[in-house]
Amino acid sequence: LEGVVVFEVPEEALVERIAGRRSCSNCGAPYHVKFSAPKQPGICDRCGGPLVQREDDREEKVRTRLSAYRGMTEEIIPYYEKMGIVRRIDGDRPQEQVASAIEKALE
Ligand SMILES: [Zn+2]
Repeated sequence: LEGVVVFEVPEEALVERIAGRRSCSNCGAPYHVKFSAPKQPGICDRCGGPLVQREDDREEKVRTRLSAYRGMTEEIIPYYEKMGIVRRIDGDRPQEQVASAIEKALE
């Protein structure tokens, strides 16, 4: 193992990103209520089908998933930090900036 990449994103930003996801129950097209909203709320631009939210993406489920992450995954990070292989990346930025930060971290 040569490197561990840790993405740092405030919990509220993660909840907003995940809980806002929707997809068309007919054709599967992905949407987001804030970042990629359909022209008419709840209706697919491509086929007119109804948009649905995955059960797992409901806000309370997202918070449960995040606390499981904190309890199980996050606590191993100090172990890798002692090995000097952790690269922390600010994930609360536009996609291209995060992508180039990942490339840099892996050089
Ligand atoms: Zn559709």
